[in-house]
Amino acid sequence: MIELQGITKSYITGGKPLQVLKGIDLTIKEGEFVSIMGSSGSGKSTLLNILGILDAYDEGLYTLAGTPIRELSEKKAARYRNKFLGFVFQSFNLITFKNAMENVALPLYYQGVGRSTRNKMAMEYLEQVGLKDWAEHLPSELSGGQKQRVAIARALIAQPKVLLADEPTGALDTTTSYEVMKIFKDINQQGITVVVVTHEQDIANMTDRIIRIKDGLIEKPAVLAT
Ligand code: ADP
Ligand code: MG
Repeated sequence: MIELQGITKSYITGGKPLQVLKGIDLTIKEGEFVSIMGSSGSGKSTLLNILGILDAYDEGLYTLAGTPIRELSEKKAARYRNKFLGFVFQSFNLITFKNAMENVALPLYYQGVGRSTRNKMAMEYLEQVGLKDWAEHLPSELSGGQKQRVAIARALIAQPKVLLADEPTGALDTTTSYEVMKIFKDINQQGITVVVVTHEQDIANMTDRIIRIKDGLIEKPAVLAT
């Protein structure tokens, strides 16, 4: 589903380049549930933004569902993003003046889906994350965990093949974090590839495979003791 070969990325800050990714090789198969782990500043968000076609990379090859991403025009990139990818962020990124149902329905609004259809679908996805009874509530009336579940429902409504989550539990307490990870597990069991970025070992442990990033490279998996 996702294949990276020799991906590099530098930022120029104050005239000086900072190389964050130094040649990332990584394969994530369709249907996998993986975490990308590394310390703060190790380049996790940079990597996830490249995976999400939200940011460009310098060198290397990124293939998503068989398509080389580099050659895509801006418009095609947007189409790929909408067709294949869903996003969840640490800070939820909900629209404050829209209720839970309207937030979830928003991607369908941009696709030109009519109001009654998109609200009906939004209710189905809210139900899937256990928030059917909270549809009319504004984000300010929801707990952190509930807000994140709204954001997950919003990511799912466009029926992505891959869900990318950047520190989705970073603003949540432990119990709520585990509940959110359980939702990701359920989503994965429906066949969606799920990639969770985290710096927390216990969160990473809840995924099926941990990918570690350090000093701009993916660490080789440790040899398992037999
Ligand atoms: P992580 O998500 O693992 O904490 P990031 O990918 O956000 O790491 O950042 C990796 C490094 O790149 C950090 O040193 C950060 O300061 C730097 N960085 C990230 N984004 C930018 C940017 N837009 N411009 C300049 N430097 C950046
Ligand atoms: Mg980050």
